[in-house]
Amino acid sequence: MRPVSNHNHQGNKKSSVHEEEGIFIRHLECTLCHRTYKKGDFLTCPVCGETGILEVVYDYEHIRHVFSKSHLKASQKEGIWRYGPLLPTRQVHRGLHVGDTPLYLCRRLAEALDLPKLYVKDEGLNPSGSLKDRASIIAATMAIKEHKHVVACSSTGNAATSLAASAAKFGLSSVIFVPERAPLGKLSQVLIYGASVIKVAGDYGATYQLSKAAIDYFGWYNRNAAVNPYLVEGKKTVALEVAEQLRFEVPDWVVVSVGDGCTIAGVYKGFYDLLAIGFIDRMPRILGVQASGCAPIYEAYLKGEPIKPAQENTMADSIAVGSPRNPVKALAAIEHSHGAMVTVSDQAIYQAMSLLGRTEGIYGEPAGVASLAGTIKALSEGILQRTDQVVILMTGNGLKDPRAGQEAAPSPINCQPNFDDFLEKIEGLIDG
Ligand SMILES: *Cc1c(COP(=O)(O)O)cnc(C)c1O
Ligand SMILES: [Zn+2]
Repeated sequence: MRPVSNHNHQGNKKSSVHEEEGIFIRHLECTLCHRTYKKGDFLTCPVCGETGILEVVYDYEHIRHVFSKSHLKASQKEGIWRYGPLLPTRQVHRGLHVGDTPLYLCRRLAEALDLPKLYVKDEGLNPSGSLKDRASIIAATMAIKEHKHVVACSSTGNAATSLAASAAKFGLSSVIFVPERAPLGKLSQVLIYGASVIKVAGDYGATYQLSKAAIDYFGWYNRNAAVNPYLVEGKKTVALEVAEQLRFEVPDWVVVSVGDGCTIAGVYKGFYDLLAIGFIDRMPRILGVQASGCAPIYEAYLKGEPIKPAQENTMADSIAVGSPRNPVKALAAIEHSHGAMVTVSDQAIYQAMSLLGRTEGIYGEPAGVASLAGTIKALSEGILQRTDQVVILMTGNGLKDPRAGQEAAPSPINCQPNFDDFLEKIEGLIDG
């Protein structure tokens, strides 16, 4: 059992920093060169540059002494803040209610798949409708602690919507850089939350570069995923919640869709932390799912080769990431959990959207439901066994993407305004 970045628990005791009460970060460690840095010095490794993503390493010995399952049970905090000692910042203001999403035992879906021990975690019920709220509330909180009044990121999707939402609640300004082809649904959500949206006449790469220049120039808080190590720490709270909701009985598999790779890295980190403080006794295996139209991390996994940029040919916009920024942590999460990866077609995602909706009453966006499509694929390939306990992370709400919903949904029944026509059309269609 190793952490993603191979750090050594015993070594380097002196670097333990506790400048801030209730924060148990020992240091940040580069996932490439393994150099360590003090919290707050850098966002990425100054030696490796932007690909030198840092990992937050906690003082688990210390946390074991101050944080137990009974502390957790007695906690009055809401959402992600229940796991305070495992977070990189303390709560400063009451923000949006992020986390505390339901983990459903899905009997009807389980029956449809012949996979009896099946759970779905509905992350679409977070305030802005996706798991990204877990990362953005951390970013916004850390911005406040660093006395920054402006938070910024480049994103077309849920990173932006969640950041704009948390910023609005805290009274921060948010600046969102989007490429020209930004999907309309999420763009309006960002604008409604009051963000300044800079629409860049270029592709995602150009948009990202401009956001970086602006962030450096003005000193805004940088919520660009991957380069900011604290975002994975927010995302990991989904794993902490799943474990707690299962009374710390670890599932056999956790299934999650993969774009940049930060979410899957967070899932691994959450379970890893719980193992390190003795709340659980083993790791679940992690199944990563990419869309077949955009699967650079899957390709690297399959061939054991470095990441190569891929086309972005999928309707699942939240995981349409041709040049992922966190492949190292993502692949480590798969490898160290003895997990696996699969890809799924957009058609399979649409089928999974309507299956999840009609069996469980959960409406997911394509990237959110890709995990269900991946579960079905992995069952058919013998990666998952029918006796396995499986937790599917449904990462985003379907209402964000009405166009995809329309693709996935069956057609309505067209009927003349008379009862005879109605009876004719309805015949055999409705049970009970
Ligand atoms: C961002 C996102 C993902 C993937 O997360 P990454 O960190 O990019 O791998 C999956 N589903 C939804 C709904 C998302 O918004
Ligand atoms: Zn480095």
